[in-house]
Amino acid sequence: MQATPSYILSGPKETTKIPNQTLGRLIFDCLKKRPHNDEINVNAYTGDALTAEKLLTSSVKLSIVFKKMGLGRGDVIAVICENCLNYFIPFAAAFYMGVTVNPLNSAYTVGELKSLLLISKPKLILCSEKSYKTVLEVAQDINITKANILFMEHNEYEKESEIQCFEELLESVTVNINDFEPEEYDISETALIMSSSGTTGHPKGVQLSHENIRSAILPFSNPNHGAYSSKDATVLVPPFYHLFGLLHEFCAVIIGIKVIIMDGFNPEVYLKAIQDYKATILNAVPPLVHFLARSPLVDEYDLSAVKDIVCGGAPLSSTVEKEFEDRFPKLKVRQLYGLTEASGMCVAIPRSCLPNKDGTAGVLIENVLAKIVDVETNKSVCSYKVGEICFKGPMVMKGYFSNPDATKNCFDEEGFLHTGDLGYYDEDGYFYVVDRIKELIKYKGFQVPPAELETLLLSHPAVKDCGVIGISDERAGQVPLAFVVPKEEAVVVEKELVDYVAERISVTKRLYGGVKFVKEIPKTPSGKILRRKLVDIHRGSN
Ligand code: AMP
Repeated sequence: MQATPSYILSGPKETTKIPNQTLGRLIFDCLKKRPHNDEINVNAYTGDALTAEKLLTSSVKLSIVFKKMGLGRGDVIAVICENCLNYFIPFAAAFYMGVTVNPLNSAYTVGELKSLLLISKPKLILCSEKSYKTVLEVAQDINITKANILFMEHNEYEKESEIQCFEELLESVTVNINDFEPEEYDISETALIMSSSGTTGHPKGVQLSHENIRSAILPFSNPNHGAYSSKDATVLVPPFYHLFGLLHEFCAVIIGIKVIIMDGFNPEVYLKAIQDYKATILNAVPPLVHFLARSPLVDEYDLSAVKDIVCGGAPLSSTVEKEFEDRFPKLKVRQLYGLTEASGMCVAIPRSCLPNKDGTAGVLIENVLAKIVDVETNKSVCSYKVGEICFKGPMVMKGYFSNPDATKNCFDEEGFLHTGDLGYYDEDGYFYVVDRIKELIKYKGFQVPPAELETLLLSHPAVKDCGVIGISDERAGQVPLAFVVPKEEAVVVEKELVDYVAERISVTKRLYGGVKFVKEIPKTPSGKILRRKLVDIHRGSN
């Protein structure tokens, strides 16, 4: 790793042998080579498995069904479902034919879902039993009829809702896999539209190409970094609608790891699955490391097969990291750092050389260029100088879907993506993330855009003005706290506003930090909320 005089760092050149092809071609070729009964995914609760054979046949058949439904290259489908065994089937089917997939959180409320679906404008929605009522409420507004909604798994509501499960449609398709070929198209085409609020707080669709995702998978198989192989298994809690979870589905198919899936977190099921499936890798967000470090339950299970634990999505407290390592002396938490806009990960602690550097998020992964820029001058700075972290490389997104202004605002003239995170690197090229300048709160690794909560609060009849900030929380990382200026004549209490928000937003975005009533919200002359001042007010009052 070398810093050139213009202070641009570069990660190593790629050495991994993943062909530079569309994800459809990669997935199809990998699945065809796999033994039929190889287990790609196992349900941690039931032990049911998705075999390579089932994934291959079902995805090829679904691709034929998609074509019959009129879907083609460049169209978008949305998948609104919890982690389940069928999850990856529509993704593979879509990639065989150049269709883009927009995975979304099935716990979203009508308002949240509508704003995201209005961006991606899918022609077909695949949903779960849990999300179908919300999907139906939104469907009309986005020109989707019931014929273009399918269930991801069979369930008791199929008749009542008149929605078919996609599996039913596969029954009438006969196909010889040897006669099927995925379509050829350019790897720069969009494979995924992921959700992110970016640096400014409003929902956006991050457009990731086939090449972006291939680049994101490389470090997992690199012997110096993830070193994943077909001998590895992981028990996965992160949701598949976020890249941290979803990239593991690609690793399962392309690298061959076994992914034991969970829908939500259940401590006993999680620990038992690690024990029974002899999980070798753990993928955690900070609250999970917190659980593994402190829960007495952990002693009741044999976790000795684990040889690697990675943690990303939010800063990990060094106290929790140390407690974890005291409890598991053979393991070192490997931090990862990145963002959806750069396909998930740009910096990671390599498995091959675990450093003795407290709080580092690691070194650049292959093919990434990085610089730290002074926030005032925008000039790149040398080691140990704190500034905004910027990335460039084949894993960096194409841009925000249908949002050229937001895209333009996050790239500089050298083509670097500005992350909205503050950090520095040391003389060995190890990165440290120290703060966030973008308007984003991270609750348990989930994105909570303050602007979304502010818009919601302003719709309450008693609220004149408001500003939301993230405050530290040992377990969740951060929780949102609202400062509210009530209208003169209004009588309103904290609980009323907390409940008002909770009823209208998904569970990860609630006002867990509470509400503080103030006389005014500090703002710049142009009306921008001075969140730093709100942070100071909060600190001063504690
Ligand atoms: P997301 O796009 O949801 O993955 O969120 C990305 C953001 O999460 C980054 O821009 C950071 O603000 C934060 N983040 C992710 N990983 C880390 C880490 N290891 N340390 C500190 N912040 C992190």
